[in-house]
Amino acid sequence: MARIFSGIQPSGELHIGNYLGAVKNWVTLQHTAESIFCIVDYHAITGSYKPDLLRARRRDMALGLLAAGIDPAVSTLFVQSDVPEHTELAWIFNSVTPLGELERQTQFKDKSQRMESVNAGILTYPILQAADILLYRADRVPVGEDQLQHLELSRVIARRWNAEFARDDDFFPEPQPVLTPTRRIMGLDGQAKMSKSMGNTIGLLESPEEIWSKLRPAVTDPKRIKKTDPGTPEVCNIYHLHKAFSPPATVEHVAVQCSTAGWGCIDCKKVLAESMESELVPIRARAAALRDDTAGVDGALAAGADRCRTLARETMRGVRERMGFD
Ligand code: SF4
Repeated sequence: MARIFSGIQPSGELHIGNYLGAVKNWVTLQHTAESIFCIVDYHAITGSYKPDLLRARRRDMALGLLAAGIDPAVSTLFVQSDVPEHTELAWIFNSVTPLGELERQTQFKDKSQRMESVNAGILTYPILQAADILLYRADRVPVGEDQLQHLELSRVIARRWNAEFARDDDFFPEPQPVLTPTRRIMGLDGQAKMSKSMGNTIGLLESPEEIWSKLRPAVTDPKRIKKTDPGTPEVCNIYHLHKAFSPPATVEHVAVQCSTAGWGCIDCKKVLAESMESELVPIRARAAALRDDTAGVDGALAAGADRCRTLARETMRGVRERMGFD
């Protein structure tokens, strides 16, 4: 059975961008492949942060993932810092990665331009990502399009390390991307990708009232100024959310109503809110049960870390032996 690996930063409560862009796909994939999902807390410290908040966010993320449908009976969920081999392998990969390749990464260029002071972790972030994936010798990595360049770098690192140190075997497989079916989810401002740091999200576990208070003023087709103006669904983020949450017949109805000025944007958003409720009600219910079962959440993470430590030690034994460390 193929092995898949994917990680998510402990940014606190999951939002629907994380859910549609990654986690919903993981929930499906966990039944098709041996799946390892990681809360990548080492990746979360490249900017300033508060240790207590990191601790709380790690827990919230674990709870959110389990509530969203990650099932510890069929997949492995763990916290990255519980397996120190991630950073050991990242250090090793530092030594086979030219600086220029890191500097060419689009995400590094974007992030570093926005920062006053850039720490080395921002630059070497994709090396730690390569270590995360290759430590488990994963065959496939579910990713969004914006992560493809980093995954390509992981493949290059695997190839280069194999050429240098593997004997006749390809010790590290070159991981293949599994593109997430839902394209980039835009934020409610319609300007940027949905992201907690942009303040344009809807939390996966928010109440119907909180969701409506965010959906109601959300940006739509800017050319629809009056209810009688026909709109263009494809340019409207609400339409794309319908595609993610509403049944196909409703999506079709939305497109017709919008383009013929058959209804206003508030009518359209009310239907979206209903569709979202159908999907989110069971997730909220699972989250409520998990909040009362802290031992269950801790147990799932501990079991995941145990299994991953065993796999990681095995990989590192092979790495150390091939590199002359023992
Ligand atoms: Fe967007 Fe719906 Fe308004 Fe059309 S009617 S612009 S799809 S919110």
